[in-house]
Amino acid sequence: MKSPVRVRPGRPIRLRDIDPDDDGGYGSKDVARAELEKNLAKLRERQQLLYADSRHALLVVLQAMDTGGKDGTIRHVLSGLNPVACVVTSFKVPSSEEQAHDFLWRIHKAVPARGVIGVFNRSQYEDVLVVRVHDLVPPKVWKERYAQINEFERILSQNNVRIVKFYLHISKAEQKRRLKARLADPSKNWKFSEADLAERKLWEDYSRAYEDAINKCSTEWAPWYVIPANVKWARDAMVARVLLETMESMPLRWPKAKGRLSKIKIR
Ligand code: AMP
Ligand code: MG
Repeated sequence: MKSPVRVRPGRPIRLRDIDPDDDGGYGSKDVARAELEKNLAKLRERQQLLYADSRHALLVVLQAMDTGGKDGTIRHVLSGLNPVACVVTSFKVPSSEEQAHDFLWRIHKAVPARGVIGVFNRSQYEDVLVVRVHDLVPPKVWKERYAQINEFERILSQNNVRIVKFYLHISKAEQKRRLKARLADPSKNWKFSEADLAERKLWEDYSRAYEDAINKCSTEWAPWYVIPANVKWARDAMVARVLLETMESMPLRWPKAKGRLSKIKIR
């Protein structure tokens, strides 16, 4: 098993150099699922510690092209966590109230509290992705946002919010298969949106925008990971593995008991 690509500051990646079919070295679904289960159990323990400690938060950012598997990853990996201390936020087209504020306003409000794992299904990065590809603001405005996002994430990390960001990397051919499945399978029809076909025509533009977002905003304090995501079971196992590594590197500890517990008698 090899670890997925963590993008290093100053060492830009190109998405076409990363194989979306890569199965992470697991070789079979059974092997990947077995590791996922093992790591999920460890993640739950770690989450309990994060919650008890309540000095740190974890923010998980999920981004991908349409059909890239953000929802599936949340279902398979993050739903295994204790819901008491896990909050998922999905960012849609900004409301009129959100539009009336700076682009980070709605994001900052959704940052997890100490002790909590927050999951962003889409994020601040939409403001340098869809917004850039569709010319929703002038280039001068979105170009300044990479540095603004880096500073924002630095402030969060200096305030005990650990950040880890995943780009779920699928191929255009895999997207075609998944869109067709959404058309063919009645239980998937609801996920089909004609708007996704228009976005699909802009695949190259989105790829460039993603490369810039990943390369300009993978920092020591908020790294991007590129997860090969054509193979769903490999994707889930790789995300869980990185999450566990991230949580194991956080300086968590059980809080000290209040008072002298040995003196307490329960009758
Ligand atoms: P979905 O995730 O399929 O429910 O779709 C949400 C939609 O909201 C996607 O088409 C996103 O591109 C869009 N979206 C999210 N954030 C923004 C933003 N800041 N500006 C414009 N569109 C956005
Ligand atoms: Mg969609």
